Amino acid sequence: MKTTVTNNPKIAAAFIKAGEIAAFPTETVYGLGADAYNEKAVKKIFKAKGRPVDNPLIVHIANKKDINVLAQEITPSAKKIISKFFPGPVTVILKKNEIIPPATTAGLDTIAIRMPAGRLAQQLIKAAGVPIAAPSANLSGSPSPTNFLHVLRDFNNKIPCLLIGPPAKYGLESTVIDCTGKNPVILRPGSVTLEQIKKLDKNAVIQKKGGKIKSPGQKYKHYSPKADVRIINVKREMSNVKRNEAFIGLDRNLGKGFEKVLICRSMNDYARKLFSFFRECDDEGIKTIWCQKVAEKGIGAAIMNRLNKAIH
Ligand code: AMP
Ligand code: MG
Repeated sequence: MKTTVTNNPKIAAAFIKAGEIAAFPTETVYGLGADAYNEKAVKKIFKAKGRPVDNPLIVHIANKKDINVLAQEITPSAKKIISKFFPGPVTVILKKNEIIPPATTAGLDTIAIRMPAGRLAQQLIKAAGVPIAAPSANLSGSPSPTNFLHVLRDFNNKIPCLLIGPPAKYGLESTVIDCTGKNPVILRPGSVTLEQIKKLDKNAVIQKKGGKIKSPGQKYKHYSPKADVRIINVKREMSNVKRNEAFIGLDRNLGKGFEKVLICRSMNDYARKLFSFFRECDDEGIKTIWCQKVAEKGIGAAIMNRLNKAIH
């Protein structure tokens, strides 16, 4: 199959309307989308990605009013998060309405809803005229795509359409927040942090490790480059630094002696560049990627979440 590559959201929307899948840019990562109401179309996403069928998709909307169609009830905790962070890099989980086919939510009775802030994503959803179910546009298990070249690397001539746009502003997937209960529970940390959510609701928490997994995606190894990922905290003996090893982090001294080094300007910069660095390292034959450990506060919680999942 030939992939139509376009920068025109109307062209990509025509594929979605016709029951096909299309990759598109968002401010978090690139997504691989289909009409959320069309079971057959949604199944094509799982097939193209090799995604486990029990891992539900996020439904992307362009208008807050659509939440009333998709969800049974907008809980008070969801209301606050939606009014502060929609559109943006946040996904809320609510009880779903019947209108959504089981394939989209992997049979769960809840639905993940996000309103992306990116202009092209919004134009695409509006032109398609339906909510767009989309996970990240990568082969299952590999790092999420933060620019259109990453999407082509995984899917050139394997999907019908790619809408190209700028590189992702955040570079990490959205913060997923379960809003079905009294207090918001962060199932997957992201660029919108626990500290920010706590300002809206002081009882908000990040789901404990080892607790019942409510976000199926979190049980899979994820985001992994082919290289071994290791977390580095203190300076290693220089003589131990081998060829084919790379470093990403904030501390210039920690990165000395590595074959490939990326020193990030800030925690946000680290988050934005992490997946792209993983992919570059694989392209260059790097065997081990040392990633600097950061404190699990603010966006550091999201960085450590992705690093821990990337370890082989
Ligand atoms: P991706 O966009 O590829 O990061 O995948 C979507 C993420 O949202 C996965 O981690 C899913 O487990 C999570 N997700 C989607 N729907 C739900 C839901 N109803 N409840 C909990 N997590 C969900
Ligand atoms: Mg994903």
